[in-house]
Amino acid sequence: MTGTTAPGALLIIGGGASGVILACHLLRRPEVDIRITLIERREQVGRGLAYSTDHPGHLLNVRAHSMSMFADDPEHFSRWLRHGDGPTDGGIDGFHFAQRSRYAHYLRHTLEQLAGAGDRFRRVEGECQALVETEAGVEARLADGSRHAGTTAFLAVGYDAPVSAVSVDEVVPDDTVLIRGTGLGMVDLFIALAARRHRGPIIALSRRGQLPQVHRQSAALPIDAAGVPFGAEMSQTLGWVRRLVRDAREQGRDWRDVVDGLRPHSQKLWQSWSVAQRRRFLTHLRPWWDSHRHRTAPQIAQVVEEALASGKLTVIAGRIAGEEAAAGRLRVAVRQRGSGAVRIVDVDRCFDCTGVSCHPLGSNPVLRDLVSRGGARPDALGLGLDVAGDGAVVGRDGRVSPRVYGVGPVTRAALWEITAVPDIRLQCAAMVERHLRRA
Ligand SMILES: Cc1cc2nc3c(=O)[nH]c(=O)nc-3n(C[C@H](O)[C@H](O)[C@H](O)COP(=O)(O)OP(=O)(O)OC[C@H]3O[C@@H](n4cnc5c(N)ncnc54)[C@H](O)[C@@H]3O)c2cc1C
Repeated sequence: MTGTTAPGALLIIGGGASGVILACHLLRRPEVDIRITLIERREQVGRGLAYSTDHPGHLLNVRAHSMSMFADDPEHFSRWLRHGDGPTDGGIDGFHFAQRSRYAHYLRHTLEQLAGAGDRFRRVEGECQALVETEAGVEARLADGSRHAGTTAFLAVGYDAPVSAVSVDEVVPDDTVLIRGTGLGMVDLFIALAARRHRGPIIALSRRGQLPQVHRQSAALPIDAAGVPFGAEMSQTLGWVRRLVRDAREQGRDWRDVVDGLRPHSQKLWQSWSVAQRRRFLTHLRPWWDSHRHRTAPQIAQVVEEALASGKLTVIAGRIAGEEAAAGRLRVAVRQRGSGAVRIVDVDRCFDCTGVSCHPLGSNPVLRDLVSRGGARPDALGLGLDVAGDGAVVGRDGRVSPRVYGVGPVTRAALWEITAVPDIRLQCAAMVERHLRRA
Protein backbone atom coordinates (compact mmCIF):
# COMPACT_ATOMS: atom_id res chain seq x y z
CA MET A 1 0.00 0.00 0.00
CA THR A 2 1.26 3.50 -0.76
CA GLY A 3 0.49 6.75 1.03
CA THR A 4 -0.38 7.29 4.67
CA THR A 5 -3.60 8.18 6.37
CA ALA A 6 -2.14 11.25 8.02
CA PRO A 7 -4.62 14.13 8.31
CA GLY A 8 -4.88 15.94 5.02
CA ALA A 9 -4.13 12.92 2.81
CA LEU A 10 -6.66 13.50 0.05
CA LEU A 11 -7.55 11.21 -2.81
CA ILE A 12 -8.97 12.68 -6.00
CA ILE A 13 -10.34 10.02 -8.34
CA GLY A 14 -10.49 11.39 -11.87
CA GLY A 15 -8.18 13.96 -13.41
CA GLY A 16 -10.51 15.67 -15.88
CA ALA A 17 -11.40 19.34 -15.46
CA SER A 18 -13.15 18.81 -12.10
CA GLY A 19 -10.34 16.81 -10.48
CA VAL A 20 -7.65 19.18 -11.70
CA ILE A 21 -9.55 22.32 -10.69
CA LEU A 22 -10.14 20.87 -7.21
CA ALA A 23 -6.44 19.96 -6.88
CA CYS A 24 -5.42 23.47 -7.97
CA HIS A 25 -7.76 25.09 -5.46
CA LEU A 26 -6.16 22.99 -2.71
CA LEU A 27 -2.59 23.55 -3.88
CA ARG A 28 -2.98 27.28 -4.10
CA ARG A 29 -3.28 27.33 -0.29
CA PRO A 30 0.40 26.95 0.67
CA GLU A 31 -0.39 27.32 4.36
CA VAL A 32 -2.38 24.09 4.38
CA ASP A 33 -0.65 20.80 5.14
CA ILE A 34 -2.09 18.44 2.57
CA ARG A 35 -0.95 15.51 0.46
CA ILE A 36 -3.00 15.01 -2.69
CA THR A 37 -3.04 11.79 -4.69
CA LEU A 38 -4.75 12.29 -8.05
CA ILE A 39 -5.71 9.03 -9.73
CA GLU A 40 -6.41 9.26 -13.47
CA ARG A 41 -6.66 6.41 -15.93
CA ARG A 42 -5.84 8.48 -19.00
CA GLU A 43 -2.23 9.19 -19.88
CA GLN A 44 -2.74 12.92 -19.46
CA VAL A 45 -4.63 14.78 -16.80
CA GLY A 46 -6.79 17.81 -17.64
CA ARG A 47 -8.43 16.30 -20.69
CA GLY A 48 -11.37 14.24 -19.51
CA LEU A 49 -14.22 13.95 -21.96
CA ALA A 50 -14.62 17.64 -22.79
CA TYR A 51 -11.00 18.58 -23.49
CA SER A 52 -9.60 15.42 -25.05
CA THR A 53 -10.14 16.70 -28.58
CA ASP A 54 -7.17 18.07 -30.52
CA HIS A 55 -9.36 19.25 -33.37
CA PRO A 56 -8.61 22.96 -33.97
CA GLY A 57 -12.28 23.58 -34.83
CA HIS A 58 -13.47 22.34 -31.46
CA LEU A 59 -13.73 25.52 -29.44
CA LEU A 60 -14.80 26.20 -25.90
CA ASN A 61 -18.46 27.10 -25.68
CA VAL A 62 -17.78 29.49 -22.82
CA ARG A 63 -15.88 32.74 -23.28
CA ALA A 64 -12.33 32.94 -21.93
CA HIS A 65 -13.28 35.35 -19.19
CA SER A 66 -15.51 32.71 -17.58
CA MET A 67 -13.12 29.78 -18.02
CA SER A 68 -10.55 30.76 -15.40
CA MET A 69 -10.19 28.01 -12.78
CA PHE A 70 -10.52 30.66 -10.13
CA ALA A 71 -13.66 32.79 -9.89
CA ASP A 72 -11.72 35.30 -7.78
CA ASP A 73 -9.19 35.72 -10.62
CA PRO A 74 -11.36 35.73 -13.76
CA GLU A 75 -8.49 36.79 -16.03
CA HIS A 76 -6.33 33.80 -15.05
CA PHE A 77 -7.10 31.81 -18.22
CA SER A 78 -6.97 34.84 -20.54
CA ARG A 79 -3.57 35.78 -19.08
CA TRP A 80 -2.37 32.22 -19.60
CA LEU A 81 -3.53 32.33 -23.22
CA ARG A 82 -1.48 35.49 -23.71
CA HIS A 83 1.61 34.56 -21.73
CA GLY A 84 1.32 30.93 -20.68
CA ASP A 85 3.11 27.82 -21.76
CA GLY A 86 3.36 27.12 -25.51
CA PRO A 87 1.95 29.17 -28.39
CA THR A 88 0.06 32.25 -27.34
CA ASP A 89 -3.39 33.13 -28.66
CA GLY A 90 -3.37 36.63 -30.13
CA GLY A 91 -6.13 39.21 -29.75
CA ILE A 92 -7.55 37.79 -26.53
CA ASP A 93 -10.41 39.66 -25.03
CA GLY A 94 -13.15 38.56 -22.66
CA PHE A 95 -15.21 37.41 -25.65
CA HIS A 96 -12.57 35.01 -26.97
CA PHE A 97 -13.44 31.33 -27.49
CA ALA A 98 -10.24 29.30 -27.26
CA GLN A 99 -9.58 25.83 -28.61
CA ARG A 100 -10.60 23.11 -26.18
CA SER A 101 -7.16 21.46 -26.49
CA ARG A 102 -5.65 24.74 -25.24
CA TYR A 103 -7.86 24.54 -22.20
CA ALA A 104 -6.59 21.04 -21.40
CA HIS A 105 -3.07 22.43 -21.66
CA TYR A 106 -3.98 25.30 -19.34
CA LEU A 107 -5.35 22.87 -16.74
CA ARG A 108 -2.23 20.67 -16.91
CA HIS A 109 0.22 23.54 -16.89
CA THR A 110 -1.44 25.32 -13.97
CA LEU A 111 -1.49 22.07 -11.98
CA GLU A 112 2.23 21.51 -12.66
CA GLN A 113 3.04 25.07 -11.62
CA LEU A 114 1.08 24.86 -8.38
CA ALA A 115 2.29 21.36 -7.51
CA GLY A 116 5.91 22.41 -7.99
CA ALA A 117 8.64 20.02 -6.93
CA GLY A 118 7.35 19.42 -3.39
CA ASP A 119 5.55 16.39 -2.02
CA ARG A 120 2.09 17.95 -1.69
CA PHE A 121 0.94 16.44 -4.97
CA ARG A 122 1.31 13.02 -6.54
CA ARG A 123 -0.24 11.80 -9.75
CA VAL A 124 -1.01 8.10 -10.11
CA GLU A 125 -1.83 6.70 -13.54
CA GLY A 126 -4.36 3.90 -13.37
CA GLU A 127 -7.99 3.00 -13.06
CA CYS A 128 -9.61 3.07 -9.65
CA GLN A 129 -11.89 0.05 -9.33
CA ALA A 130 -12.99 0.36 -5.74
CA LEU A 131 -13.15 2.95 -3.00
CA VAL A 132 -13.47 1.44 0.44
CA GLU A 133 -14.15 3.30 3.67
CA THR A 134 -11.92 1.99 6.45
CA GLU A 135 -11.60 2.73 10.17
CA ALA A 136 -8.80 5.18 9.46
CA GLY A 137 -10.13 6.73 6.31
CA VAL A 138 -10.64 5.62 2.77
CA GLU A 139 -8.72 3.42 0.39
CA ALA A 140 -8.62 3.47 -3.40
CA ARG A 141 -7.98 0.12 -5.07
CA LEU A 142 -6.60 0.24 -8.56
CA ALA A 143 -6.76 -2.19 -11.47
CA ASP A 144 -2.99 -2.84 -11.19
CA GLY A 145 -3.46 -4.06 -7.61
CA SER A 146 -2.03 -0.96 -5.92
CA ARG A 147 -3.85 0.63 -2.99
CA HIS A 148 -3.80 4.26 -1.99
CA ALA A 149 -4.95 5.46 1.40
CA GLY A 150 -6.38 8.83 2.36
CA THR A 151 -8.50 10.58 4.93
CA THR A 152 -11.02 11.88 2.39
CA ALA A 153 -11.79 10.96 -1.23
CA PHE A 154 -13.24 13.15 -3.94
CA LEU A 155 -14.94 11.38 -6.83
CA ALA A 156 -14.39 13.51 -9.93
CA VAL A 157 -15.06 10.73 -12.41
CA GLY A 158 -17.32 12.80 -14.67
CA TYR A 159 -19.18 11.27 -17.52
CA ASP A 160 -19.67 7.74 -18.60
CA ALA A 161 -17.82 8.02 -21.91
CA PRO A 162 -20.27 7.35 -24.75
CA VAL A 163 -19.49 4.28 -26.79
CA SER A 164 -19.80 5.22 -30.43
CA ALA A 165 -19.95 2.33 -32.86
CA VAL A 166 -18.19 4.28 -35.62
CA SER A 167 -15.40 6.79 -35.65
CA VAL A 168 -15.34 9.87 -37.88
CA ASP A 169 -12.27 8.42 -39.60
CA GLU A 170 -14.38 5.57 -40.97
CA VAL A 171 -16.81 7.90 -42.72
CA VAL A 172 -16.45 8.05 -46.50
CA PRO A 173 -16.84 11.63 -47.91
CA ASP A 174 -19.99 10.75 -49.88
CA ASP A 175 -21.71 8.85 -47.07
CA THR A 176 -25.11 9.98 -45.89
CA VAL A 177 -24.68 10.54 -42.17
CA LEU A 178 -27.44 10.54 -39.58
CA ILE A 179 -26.66 12.18 -36.26
CA ARG A 180 -29.06 11.58 -33.40
CA GLY A 181 -29.12 14.74 -31.31
CA THR A 182 -28.95 18.39 -32.34
CA GLY A 183 -26.98 19.81 -29.40
CA LEU A 184 -23.34 20.66 -28.88
CA GLY A 185 -22.23 17.05 -29.43
CA MET A 186 -23.82 17.08 -32.89
CA VAL A 187 -22.14 20.41 -33.64
CA ASP A 188 -18.74 18.95 -32.66
CA LEU A 189 -19.27 16.00 -34.96
CA PHE A 190 -20.47 18.20 -37.80
CA ILE A 191 -17.36 20.42 -37.44
CA ALA A 192 -15.12 17.33 -37.56
CA LEU A 193 -16.90 16.02 -40.70
CA ALA A 194 -16.83 19.43 -42.39
CA ALA A 195 -13.08 19.69 -41.74
CA ARG A 196 -12.66 16.36 -43.53
CA ARG A 197 -14.43 17.93 -46.52
CA HIS A 198 -17.40 15.65 -46.18
CA ARG A 199 -19.61 15.84 -49.29
CA GLY A 200 -22.56 13.61 -48.49
CA PRO A 201 -25.75 14.78 -46.77
CA ILE A 202 -25.63 15.16 -42.99
CA ILE A 203 -28.96 14.86 -41.19
CA ALA A 204 -29.34 15.79 -37.54
CA LEU A 205 -32.40 14.53 -35.70
CA SER A 206 -33.89 15.31 -32.32
CA ARG A 207 -37.37 15.44 -30.84
CA ARG A 208 -37.59 19.21 -31.16
CA GLY A 209 -34.87 19.84 -33.72
CA GLN A 210 -33.54 22.60 -31.50
CA LEU A 211 -30.00 23.76 -32.26
CA PRO A 212 -27.80 25.44 -29.64
CA GLN A 213 -28.15 29.20 -29.56
CA VAL A 214 -25.16 31.40 -30.30
CA HIS A 215 -23.19 33.60 -27.93
CA ARG A 216 -23.38 37.37 -28.35
CA GLN A 217 -21.76 40.06 -26.29
CA SER A 218 -24.01 40.10 -23.25
CA ALA A 219 -23.99 41.17 -19.64
CA ALA A 220 -25.78 39.11 -17.00
CA LEU A 221 -28.90 40.82 -15.69
CA PRO A 222 -28.63 41.35 -11.93
CA ILE A 223 -31.53 39.37 -10.44
CA ASP A 224 -32.34 39.84 -6.77
CA ALA A 225 -32.82 36.53 -4.93
CA ALA A 226 -35.84 38.06 -3.17
CA GLY A 227 -37.71 38.10 -6.49
CA VAL A 228 -36.91 34.50 -7.50
CA PRO A 229 -39.98 32.22 -7.15
CA PHE A 230 -38.16 29.39 -5.38
CA GLY A 231 -40.32 26.27 -5.06
CA ALA A 232 -43.04 27.59 -7.41
CA GLU A 233 -44.73 25.41 -10.02
CA MET A 234 -42.94 25.11 -13.36
CA SER A 235 -45.57 27.16 -15.22
CA GLN A 236 -45.21 29.99 -12.70
CA THR A 237 -41.41 29.89 -12.95
CA LEU A 238 -41.58 29.90 -16.73
CA GLY A 239 -43.99 32.86 -16.66
CA TRP A 240 -41.56 34.72 -14.40
CA VAL A 241 -38.64 34.06 -16.78
CA ARG A 242 -40.72 35.18 -19.76
CA ARG A 243 -41.59 38.42 -17.97
CA LEU A 244 -37.91 39.00 -17.21
CA VAL A 245 -37.06 38.50 -20.88
CA ARG A 246 -39.85 40.84 -22.02
CA ASP A 247 -38.77 43.53 -19.56
CA ALA A 248 -35.12 43.08 -20.55
CA ARG A 249 -36.05 43.50 -24.22
CA GLU A 250 -37.98 46.67 -23.43
CA GLN A 251 -34.77 47.99 -21.86
CA GLY A 252 -32.84 47.14 -25.03
CA ARG A 253 -31.26 44.06 -23.48
CA ASP A 254 -31.01 40.52 -24.82
CA TRP A 255 -32.58 37.27 -23.53
CA ARG A 256 -29.01 36.06 -22.95
CA ASP A 257 -28.67 38.65 -20.18
CA VAL A 258 -31.59 36.97 -18.41
CA VAL A 259 -30.34 33.41 -18.91
CA ASP A 260 -26.89 34.42 -17.61
CA GLY A 261 -28.50 36.42 -14.80
CA LEU A 262 -30.31 33.28 -13.61
CA ARG A 263 -27.04 31.45 -13.14
CA PRO A 264 -26.36 32.50 -9.53
CA HIS A 265 -29.84 31.25 -8.62
CA SER A 266 -30.20 28.12 -10.77
CA GLN A 267 -28.78 25.64 -8.24
CA LYS A 268 -31.02 27.02 -5.49
CA LEU A 269 -34.02 26.93 -7.82
CA TRP A 270 -33.31 23.28 -8.60
CA GLN A 271 -32.96 22.49 -4.91
CA SER A 272 -36.24 24.24 -4.15
CA TRP A 273 -38.16 21.87 -6.44
CA SER A 274 -39.67 18.53 -5.47
CA VAL A 275 -38.60 15.41 -7.37
CA ALA A 276 -41.85 15.66 -9.38
CA GLN A 277 -41.10 19.30 -10.30
CA ARG A 278 -37.55 18.41 -11.29
CA ARG A 279 -38.90 15.61 -13.46
CA ARG A 280 -41.29 18.03 -15.17
CA PHE A 281 -38.40 20.41 -15.82
CA LEU A 282 -36.31 17.60 -17.34
CA THR A 283 -39.19 16.41 -19.54
CA HIS A 284 -40.55 19.71 -20.78
CA LEU A 285 -38.05 22.51 -20.29
CA ARG A 286 -34.63 20.94 -20.41
CA PRO A 287 -34.19 21.04 -24.23
CA TRP A 288 -35.12 24.73 -24.21
CA TRP A 289 -32.88 25.48 -21.23
CA ASP A 290 -29.90 23.53 -22.58
CA SER A 291 -30.02 25.18 -26.00
CA HIS A 292 -30.21 28.68 -24.51
CA ARG A 293 -27.85 28.12 -21.63
CA HIS A 294 -25.05 26.15 -23.40
CA ARG A 295 -24.40 28.28 -26.46
CA THR A 296 -21.88 27.97 -29.28
CA ALA A 297 -19.08 30.33 -30.18
CA PRO A 298 -20.13 32.74 -32.97
CA GLN A 299 -17.60 31.35 -35.46
CA ILE A 300 -18.96 27.82 -34.95
CA ALA A 301 -22.56 28.99 -35.29
CA GLN A 302 -21.64 30.66 -38.58
CA VAL A 303 -20.28 27.39 -40.03
CA VAL A 304 -23.48 25.61 -38.99
CA GLU A 305 -25.71 28.34 -40.42
CA GLU A 306 -23.89 28.23 -43.76
CA ALA A 307 -24.24 24.44 -43.88
CA LEU A 308 -27.97 24.72 -43.18
CA ALA A 309 -28.37 27.36 -45.87
CA SER A 310 -26.45 25.30 -48.44
CA GLY A 311 -28.28 22.08 -47.60
CA LYS A 312 -25.13 20.28 -46.42
CA LEU A 313 -26.79 19.92 -43.05
CA THR A 314 -30.48 19.18 -42.52
CA VAL A 315 -32.16 19.28 -39.14
CA ILE A 316 -35.29 17.21 -38.57
CA ALA A 317 -37.57 17.42 -35.54
CA GLY A 318 -39.02 14.00 -34.89
CA ARG A 319 -38.49 10.52 -33.58
CA ILE A 320 -37.15 7.34 -35.08
CA ALA A 321 -40.19 5.14 -35.71
CA GLY A 322 -38.25 2.19 -37.08
CA GLU A 323 -35.05 1.15 -38.75
CA GLU A 324 -33.86 -1.78 -40.82
CA ALA A 325 -30.73 -2.76 -42.70
CA ALA A 326 -31.19 -2.50 -46.45
CA ALA A 327 -28.52 -3.19 -49.07
CA GLY A 328 -25.60 -2.34 -46.79
CA ARG A 329 -27.29 0.84 -45.60
CA LEU A 330 -29.66 1.65 -42.80
CA ARG A 331 -33.24 2.60 -43.71
CA VAL A 332 -34.59 4.85 -40.98
CA ALA A 333 -38.24 5.86 -40.65
CA VAL A 334 -38.57 9.22 -38.92
CA ARG A 335 -41.93 10.36 -37.57
CA GLN A 336 -41.82 14.13 -37.93
CA ARG A 337 -42.88 16.38 -35.09
CA GLY A 338 -46.06 18.31 -35.73
CA SER A 339 -47.36 16.63 -38.91
CA GLY A 340 -46.66 13.09 -37.74
CA ALA A 341 -45.70 12.28 -41.33
CA VAL A 342 -43.12 9.52 -41.72
CA ARG A 343 -40.01 10.38 -43.68
CA ILE A 344 -37.69 7.61 -44.86
CA VAL A 345 -33.96 8.29 -44.92
CA ASP A 346 -31.34 5.83 -46.14
CA VAL A 347 -28.08 6.38 -44.31
CA ASP A 348 -24.56 4.94 -44.42
CA ARG A 349 -23.43 5.99 -40.96
CA CYS A 350 -25.30 6.71 -37.79
CA PHE A 351 -23.92 8.56 -34.75
CA ASP A 352 -25.47 8.97 -31.32
CA CYS A 353 -24.93 12.48 -29.95
CA THR A 354 -27.97 12.50 -27.67
CA GLY A 355 -25.98 13.36 -24.59
CA VAL A 356 -23.76 12.10 -21.85
CA SER A 357 -24.68 10.21 -18.72
CA CYS A 358 -23.38 10.33 -15.16
CA HIS A 359 -25.45 7.38 -13.96
CA PRO A 360 -23.41 5.45 -11.37
CA LEU A 361 -24.56 2.14 -12.80
CA GLY A 362 -22.96 2.88 -16.16
CA SER A 363 -19.55 1.47 -17.06
CA ASN A 364 -17.39 3.10 -14.38
CA PRO A 365 -16.02 0.34 -12.11
CA VAL A 366 -15.47 2.51 -9.04
CA LEU A 367 -19.05 3.77 -9.06
CA ARG A 368 -20.52 0.35 -9.76
CA ASP A 369 -18.48 -1.11 -6.91
CA LEU A 370 -19.44 1.65 -4.51
CA VAL A 371 -23.14 1.18 -5.34
CA SER A 372 -22.93 -2.62 -5.09
CA ARG A 373 -21.45 -2.39 -1.58
CA GLY A 374 -24.07 0.16 -0.48
CA GLY A 375 -21.62 3.07 -0.19
CA ALA A 376 -23.48 5.05 -2.85
CA ARG A 377 -26.77 5.02 -4.74
CA PRO A 378 -28.18 6.64 -7.87
CA ASP A 379 -30.45 9.64 -7.29
CA ALA A 380 -34.20 9.36 -7.83
CA LEU A 381 -34.04 10.75 -11.39
CA GLY A 382 -31.02 8.79 -12.59
CA LEU A 383 -28.95 11.92 -13.12
CA GLY A 384 -25.91 10.84 -11.13
CA LEU A 385 -24.88 10.02 -7.60
CA ASP A 386 -27.22 10.78 -4.76
CA VAL A 387 -25.27 13.41 -2.85
CA ALA A 388 -25.95 15.95 -0.11
CA GLY A 389 -25.75 19.66 -0.95
CA ASP A 390 -22.04 19.70 -0.01
CA GLY A 391 -21.30 16.79 -2.36
CA ALA A 392 -21.11 14.11 0.38
CA VAL A 393 -22.10 10.78 -1.13
CA VAL A 394 -25.29 9.19 0.21
CA GLY A 395 -25.27 5.41 0.72
CA ARG A 396 -27.96 2.80 0.08
CA ASP A 397 -29.31 3.21 3.62
CA GLY A 398 -29.38 7.01 3.41
CA ARG A 399 -26.20 7.45 5.43
CA VAL A 400 -24.22 10.52 4.35
CA SER A 401 -20.55 9.64 4.02
CA PRO A 402 -18.16 11.76 6.10
CA ARG A 403 -15.28 10.78 3.81
CA VAL A 404 -16.42 10.45 0.20
CA TYR A 405 -17.54 13.44 -1.85
CA GLY A 406 -18.56 13.92 -5.45
CA VAL A 407 -17.22 16.83 -7.54
CA GLY A 408 -18.40 18.16 -10.88
CA PRO A 409 -21.14 16.68 -13.08
CA VAL A 410 -21.44 13.52 -10.94
CA THR A 411 -23.17 15.79 -8.38
CA ARG A 412 -25.74 17.19 -10.79
CA ALA A 413 -28.61 15.42 -9.04
CA ALA A 414 -28.12 17.84 -6.14
CA LEU A 415 -27.20 20.95 -8.10
CA TRP A 416 -28.26 20.46 -11.72
CA GLU A 417 -26.12 23.35 -12.99
CA ILE A 418 -22.71 21.79 -12.38
CA THR A 419 -21.44 20.84 -15.80
CA ALA A 420 -19.57 23.94 -16.92
CA VAL A 421 -16.35 25.34 -15.48
CA PRO A 422 -17.93 28.55 -14.05
CA ASP A 423 -20.01 26.32 -11.75
CA ILE A 424 -17.35 23.67 -11.09
CA ARG A 425 -14.81 26.26 -9.96
CA LEU A 426 -17.27 27.67 -7.41
CA GLN A 427 -18.06 24.19 -6.14
CA CYS A 428 -14.34 23.43 -5.76
CA ALA A 429 -13.70 26.69 -3.90
CA ALA A 430 -16.57 25.97 -1.50
CA MET A 431 -15.42 22.36 -1.01
CA VAL A 432 -11.91 23.42 -0.15
CA GLU A 433 -13.18 25.95 2.39
CA ARG A 434 -15.44 23.36 4.02
CA HIS A 435 -12.69 20.76 4.03
CA LEU A 436 -10.22 23.11 5.68
CA ARG A 437 -12.75 24.02 8.34
CA ARG A 438 -13.35 20.33 9.04
CA ALA A 439 -9.65 19.39 9.11
C1 LIG B 1 -17.88 17.81 -25.41
C2 LIG B 1 -17.97 18.73 -24.23
C3 LIG B 1 -17.57 20.05 -24.34
C4 LIG B 1 -17.63 20.90 -23.24
N1 LIG B 1 -17.22 22.20 -23.37
C5 LIG B 1 -17.25 23.01 -22.30
C6 LIG B 1 -16.80 24.37 -22.40
O1 LIG B 1 -16.41 24.84 -23.46
N2 LIG B 1 -16.84 25.13 -21.29
C7 LIG B 1 -17.28 24.65 -20.09
O2 LIG B 1 -17.29 25.39 -19.12
N3 LIG B 1 -17.72 23.38 -19.98
C8 LIG B 1 -17.70 22.57 -21.04
N4 LIG B 1 -18.13 21.28 -20.93
C9 LIG B 1 -18.58 20.85 -19.62
C10 LIG B 1 -17.61 19.85 -18.94
O3 LIG B 1 -18.43 18.88 -18.37
C11 LIG B 1 -16.79 20.32 -17.82
O4 LIG B 1 -16.13 21.44 -18.23
C12 LIG B 1 -15.79 19.24 -17.33
O5 LIG B 1 -15.11 18.70 -18.43
C13 LIG B 1 -16.31 18.11 -16.48
O6 LIG B 1 -15.14 17.46 -16.06
P1 LIG B 1 -15.05 16.18 -15.16
O7 LIG B 1 -13.62 16.10 -14.79
O8 LIG B 1 -16.02 16.23 -14.06
O9 LIG B 1 -15.52 14.99 -16.08
P2 LIG B 1 -14.74 14.22 -17.34
O10 LIG B 1 -14.39 15.25 -18.32
O11 LIG B 1 -15.66 13.16 -17.71
O12 LIG B 1 -13.45 13.68 -16.65
C14 LIG B 1 -13.47 12.60 -15.73
C15 LIG B 1 -12.06 12.03 -15.66
O13 LIG B 1 -12.04 10.98 -14.70
C16 LIG B 1 -11.34 9.87 -15.22
N5 LIG B 1 -11.88 8.66 -14.59
C17 LIG B 1 -13.16 8.25 -14.62
N6 LIG B 1 -13.30 7.11 -13.92
C18 LIG B 1 -12.07 6.81 -13.45
C19 LIG B 1 -11.59 5.73 -12.66
N7 LIG B 1 -12.40 4.77 -12.24
N8 LIG B 1 -10.27 5.71 -12.35
C20 LIG B 1 -9.43 6.68 -12.80
N9 LIG B 1 -9.84 7.72 -13.56
C21 LIG B 1 -11.16 7.78 -13.87
C22 LIG B 1 -11.60 9.92 -16.71
O14 LIG B 1 -10.58 9.24 -17.41
C23 LIG B 1 -11.59 11.42 -16.98
O15 LIG B 1 -10.33 11.91 -17.29
C24 LIG B 1 -18.11 20.43 -22.01
C25 LIG B 1 -18.53 19.09 -21.91
C26 LIG B 1 -18.45 18.25 -23.00
C27 LIG B 1 -18.89 16.82 -22.85
